Formats: sequence, structure tokens, C-alpha cells
Amino acid sequence: MTKTYDALALLSGGLDSILAVKVIQDQGLRVLGLHFTSPFFGKKNLIPFWKEHYGIDAVAVNIGRQYVDMMLDGPPNNFGKWLNPCVDCKIIMIEHAKQLMEKYGAKFLISGEVMGQRPMSQRRDAMSLIRKRADAKDVLLRPLSALKLEPTPVEESGLVDRSRLLGLGGRSRKPQLELAKQYGFTEIPTPAGGCVLAEASAAGRFIKLMEEKTRPTPRDFVLAQVGRQVWAGSNWLSMGRKQHENKRLTDLSTDSDYVFTSVGFPGPVAVGRPTDAGSWDVETIRAAAELTASYASKAKRLSQETGRPVTMAVAHDGETREIEVMPRRETAVDWAEPTQDLVAPWKEARKQAQESCENGQ
Ligand code: SF4
Repeated sequence: MTKTYDALALLSGGLDSILAVKVIQDQGLRVLGLHFTSPFFGKKNLIPFWKEHYGIDAVAVNIGRQYVDMMLDGPPNNFGKWLNPCVDCKIIMIEHAKQLMEKYGAKFLISGEVMGQRPMSQRRDAMSLIRKRADAKDVLLRPLSALKLEPTPVEESGLVDRSRLLGLGGRSRKPQLELAKQYGFTEIPTPAGGCVLAEASAAGRFIKLMEEKTRPTPRDFVLAQVGRQVWAGSNWLSMGRKQHENKRLTDLSTDSDYVFTSVGFPGPVAVGRPTDAGSWDVETIRAAAELTASYASKAKRLSQETGRPVTMAVAHDGETREIEVMPRRETAVDWAEPTQDLVAPWKEARKQAQESCENGQ
């Protein structure tokens, strides 16, 4: 039988989300943390840690597919500084949490938002919009900023004692750190849960992917975060820099990918994934093998000393063949890493497309 709770909490694992749970637990109410995961955020391996260190029950909830669809269709409330659609992200999470209330017998939802803490999703108007769009007016409580907000039905009904809620606001983290001390936390989590969409370097990688593939999958977005990422026009190559990245790339590769490995010497694993442009031509395959071999230091040295090529294996469509290549960085096709410079023009183009759409052009 499913264990029941009084409240479900959006639990990113950041300090604010943990404190919000503690404030409600202090009233003798049972709270279950919902830890949402997607290709861009989520550390479900920490669930046992949260239980042990903070006494919080939590379950992981994968919203990857819906989240990626929202990103590709364009978040209705736009992106933040990089590719973070914070307002729509919160809306999706709250909508999901609402759907899970019945399953866990929960009477309300909580989130760790602090008014004014973040510029995009924690302004008063944005917080109000999120609550409205997620249709959570009657059930959503923000325990850390409750005293700055109108009383919610769960406070009015007496289920939650409003006088024991907090009125935090603004950008200072001092009150949260003080609270963490009072709760005796020995490990203080970072303010937020960690989200690559708010990082400049990841934004460039994701934009290049969205430009070259009409509907990238959640797994494509995961692949775009692993190792060294290079593109030659529409041809995408992900290369491991460390052993754990090589393993990750091997796990993520599929039959339709081109998987490059070195034969007879240690070296990186590289995965070439076709995009809308389709299969790779012979020249690109050779260039990718040459580039991958150039990051295998032993092979590169041997080749330089002897002037002889090295052997690379290329697996594709269930077949593996070996090719002889000279390790080199300058190949017949130009490989380049996507940078954050892609972000501004991509957003501008998207905005113009939206405007012309709204004007019926
Ligand atoms: S930073 Fe990422 S996880 Fe956090 S609200 Fe924004 S988009 Fe969502």
C-alpha cells in the first residue's frame, strides 16, 4: 500500500526546498518530497542522503519527455539568462505534483520559493502567474515566504498554522543559512538543485543540437552533456575525456550512431550521432576517426615517431570495421565546439519567428 502524506513538496535538493519541508514537518505534518528529473536536472542518487541527513522522504519523478517537448515547442513564458525556462519549469512541476496528490493522499503542495530571491521565477508577479497557470491556487503553499503572501486555503482551514510560517524575501541567503544552522545541518546544500539549463556552456551545446535536429530526444540532450562536443556542420561528435565519460558514451550509444574506438592502444570513445542531415559520408567518418585518434596520446606519439597510421574501429548499424588513420586535429572537415555565442542570435530568431506568427505572417 502507498504510504500517505499531508503534503507533497517540490524537492530539488537545494537548501530552500529542504528548509520548506522542515518548516512544515515542524508542525507535525507528513511531507513527501518529489524530486523531478529530466535530462537537465535531477540527482535521484541523493534521495537516501536526504532521508539520512534531513529526515525527508522523497521519490524521483521523471518529467523528461514533457520537459523536452516544452523546450522544443518554446516555453510560453520564455527563457531566462541562458536556456532556463524557469517559470514554465515550475508550472510543469506543480502540475505534475497536483496529479500525484490523490495517490499519496496529500492535501496540499509546498515549494521552497522565496520571494525576490531569483529574478525570473521568484518575483511576486511570476510567483502569482505560476500558481495561476498551474491551477494550484487552492493547494500551493510557499512556507518560506508565506507571510509576504495572502493566506492560502490550507492556512485558513487551520491545517497549517500560519503563525509558524516564515516571511523571507530578497536576495540575501543569510536567513536560510541561519535556519540551516538552527536545524543542525552539518552539510549545507547549494541554494538551488543544480540545473544545466542555467549554464552558459551547456546552452551553446543545446542550441546547436536544436538547430540541427528537428525533435531531439531526452537522450540526445543527455548525450550533448557528455565529454568534448564538436560539430562539423550538421555532423555531431561526442568524445570522452575521462574513463567515466567513455563508459557513459558507450552506454548512451545506439546502433545508428558511429562509435569510434582505438585498436591496440588506449584512447577516447567517440560517438557520432546522425542529425536531420542523415548518414555520414566517408570523408566525415575518416575525419572523426582522425580527430578521435589525436586525443589518444600514445597513438599520436607513436604515429608521429614512425610516420605510420593507427587503427581505429568504427561501429555502425551492427557492423564494426577498422580503418587506418593519421591522428590529427586539422581534418578534411572543420570540427568546432559550440559556444555560448549561439545563444543570443538563436533567441532573437525565435522571438522574430514568434512575432511574425502572432501577426499572422
Ligand atoms: S533553474 Fe532549471 S530547474 Fe530551476 S527553475 Fe529554472 S529551469 Fe527549472
